[in-house]
Amino acid sequence: MTKAKKKKNMHEDISCCCQNSQAHFLDGAMQRLDLDPAQKQLLLQSFREVTVQIPLNVHSNGQKILHTFTGYRVQHSHARGPFKGGLRFHPDVQLDEMRALAQLMTWKTALVDIPFGGAKGGIAVDPATLTEHELETLTRRFTQKMSPVLGVKEDIPAPDVNTGPREMAWIFDEYSKSNGHIPGVVTGKPVELGGLDGRLEATGYGVAHVTELALDQLDIPLKGARVVIQGFGNVGSHAALRFQAMGAHVVAISDMYGGLFNPQGIKIESAIEHVAKTGSLNDFPGAEPVTNNELLGLPCDVLVPAALEGTINCDIEPTIQAKLIIEAANMPVTYMADDKLRQRGIAIIPDILANAGGVIASYFEWVQNIQRFAWERDKVFARMEAHLSRAYTEVHQLAEAAHVDLRTAAYEVAVRRVLRAVELRGF
Ligand code: GLU
Repeated sequence: MTKAKKKKNMHEDISCCCQNSQAHFLDGAMQRLDLDPAQKQLLLQSFREVTVQIPLNVHSNGQKILHTFTGYRVQHSHARGPFKGGLRFHPDVQLDEMRALAQLMTWKTALVDIPFGGAKGGIAVDPATLTEHELETLTRRFTQKMSPVLGVKEDIPAPDVNTGPREMAWIFDEYSKSNGHIPGVVTGKPVELGGLDGRLEATGYGVAHVTELALDQLDIPLKGARVVIQGFGNVGSHAALRFQAMGAHVVAISDMYGGLFNPQGIKIESAIEHVAKTGSLNDFPGAEPVTNNELLGLPCDVLVPAALEGTINCDIEPTIQAKLIIEAANMPVTYMADDKLRQRGIAIIPDILANAGGVIASYFEWVQNIQRFAWERDKVFARMEAHLSRAYTEVHQLAEAAHVDLRTAAYEVAVRRVLRAVELRGF
């Protein structure tokens, strides 16, 4: 099999596993709620799926070549408020994966009880292969084509894999050209453009907060706990900083090129500086190199997958030694691995709770944009943590009372809320 073909097959497996996992996790909650087929169909199907083609001249080896990129926006549900969810730029982006991730956003916003539905989108592109100017043009053309389905009361994108404040600024600017100055059309913007002070850190800080709540339940103090983080992008690096500040030992971190291990704890600020200078964690002094797979199997108290979906699958599962897994990425644990890990007594805090700090902060940014009033940073984190704590308690109490795992309980709370909204509005 050629290398390219092998890569394609792997990608198909992950996307299919992503959809299967979503369906499996939802099924547990739907069975407990005893839903009829019409209700199930309503929960499973997307409201709208938009695919666009984006032609762009790209420079390659000194030549200009026309390339047509594909962009997606899947809007799953707006029963509880406007569609909400990130935009990712990644070569593996495709429709099935967007469907599963859009649905996940519906459950996430419902679980933490913020007035949004769920959506997800992106462009199938490796941004590292484009110049900044090409990326900006691509982002602007995507925005033009999607703008009929976006809007501050319709659908509000945000950062996701390989996108951040820079891309959100381009989207805001492009959308505003034909709709007036509407910063609330997108969240995760630079602070100077109406972005929320704290949005950048919010997902990672929220991950650390939820970890503290979960460790408390397991009677493991966060201070001194050994934490392993897979993925050192925005979420992984901010979670690492927060864990370190809270007294935990971040003993291993990794990026797409490989990982680092130091049983005494890695100096996170220095690792962030090293990545800023060199572009990767490679050759970082003061830690031993490990592969990403070795990293997942390191002895630790907390394992935080903060990269892409499907990283903890049945192949990796037998090597996992953590006591607690915190899903900082969306869908990092496949449903089959999830079953096995739980049978081994490893607690898993599901993505829709673990990484919800980001979308909660997005909600604050949206409110702030509508009110034209900026909140202080401390208030942002305090309120975000209050939302997460409330959701955590609700999920934990239901899980205990119903003798189900935390993910099933989280889905049940979320699905019940979405269904109630649909009922109240009238079918
Ligand atoms: N992409 C993030 C997520 O998956 C943030 C979404 C948002 O803020 O709208 O939760």
